Amino acid sequence: MNHAPTDRPTVVLVYQRTSLPWIFDSALRAGVDLVLVPRPDEDVDPERLPPAVVEVLRLDVEGAPAEALAALTERHRAAPFDGIVTLYDPAVPFVADVADALGLPGLGGDVARTVQDKRLMRRRLADAGLNVPGFATVDAPDDWAEAARLDFPVVVKPANGFSSLGVTKADTPEELGAVVDEVWQVCASKLGRVTGLVVEEYLDGPELAVESLAHEGRVHVLSIGYKGEPVGPYFEEGVYRAPALLPPHVQEAVVREVVAAHAALGVTDGPTHTELRLRGGERPYLLELGARVGGSGVSHYVAHHVTGVDLAAQALRIAVRLAPVLPPTPGQLAPAVGAAANYIVPCGGSGRIVALHGLDEVAKDPRVDHVVQMLHPGDVVRPYPHFTGYPAFVLSHHPSTEDAEEFHRFLADSIRIDYAPEGDTQ
Ligand code: ADP
Repeated sequence: MNHAPTDRPTVVLVYQRTSLPWIFDSALRAGVDLVLVPRPDEDVDPERLPPAVVEVLRLDVEGAPAEALAALTERHRAAPFDGIVTLYDPAVPFVADVADALGLPGLGGDVARTVQDKRLMRRRLADAGLNVPGFATVDAPDDWAEAARLDFPVVVKPANGFSSLGVTKADTPEELGAVVDEVWQVCASKLGRVTGLVVEEYLDGPELAVESLAHEGRVHVLSIGYKGEPVGPYFEEGVYRAPALLPPHVQEAVVREVVAAHAALGVTDGPTHTELRLRGGERPYLLELGARVGGSGVSHYVAHHVTGVDLAAQALRIAVRLAPVLPPTPGQLAPAVGAAANYIVPCGGSGRIVALHGLDEVAKDPRVDHVVQMLHPGDVVRPYPHFTGYPAFVLSHHPSTEDAEEFHRFLADSIRIDYAPEGDTQ
């Protein structure tokens, strides 16, 4: 496909599924053209591309990063582009390396690797005096003696994981060896390579997700959302409702912790998605800071409805060194103008999916903007600790968080998945 050059800036967008529309819509509003690098497993129909996409470039970013960098360097030489972004966490270091190599705005390879590696991230946060649970690193499946001395329960996870893959709670030192073994095996089969594990003390309390935009070292905290209170042993995602209903002093503590984490990790420019738990309901502890728009764009949907700020559009503008449109007070929480929510349909069982009830009706509800269905009848859901994926997301907007809560209770009653045993093809 060859489009005539325009005077709009061009951004290479790495590994975004076209079924998740938010960044494509924001690109149009930001006046940015996109060169889409699709996921290797996704067929993109050239006739049905989102309008902002002017070119499709197939690259194997994970399997052959050196070749992918060479291809992008050549593309840049032939027709320079202005920026490169991804919403796909494992591609964040690759994107930072390309930006470094081509002199484009980016995180910097070192910062990208620090935010991606939970061992480095924990050390940086601890060095900066932020709240960090006791933790130990495990470099081989039998190397867990130091971790057994932590306060239990603990959580075992891959250093380079995402989407809660393999993340598992161990309640006692006696079961730690078996849990470490299991996490190592799951990660080796799903991630391809395991660089090591982190074991950290279990943080109880509500979980929060914070959407922010950093620009020239100033952090604009757009929204703080509630992510339920998962207790394990496996940590399936469930709900996301924003703004979270928090007392002002807790809200301030969360903003302080998130802003300080950006400084500690060296993230000065671009969108971020931070997850925390509120120990004792009061004290924020970071779980991770992703240096990208979170949830493949769900974070944009939420922040846009809660604050009116077009998060993905501003992220694209920052990626091409255009001045973003931001709330006036960095370091503070942007005022909320509405509420938004994501309901992640729970698998609620395992086996071969026979039917998914309720989604069609929900899609017609005026509060619902998107139903994104990932699993369908015929797909096999394997029991945890294997992660098959989430059946569907329901994204909705509401006048208040209380309305969103009530709507989620309704969804829990309305959506149901029927399973047959895995081998059963009926
Ligand atoms: P990933 O990057 O794979 O999503 P996280 O570190 O974010 O890994 O962990 C996934 C989920 O596991 C979190 O959202 C949280 O619910 C739970 N979790 C992880 N670490 C802890 C911890 N130390 N204490 C309590 N829950 C945790």
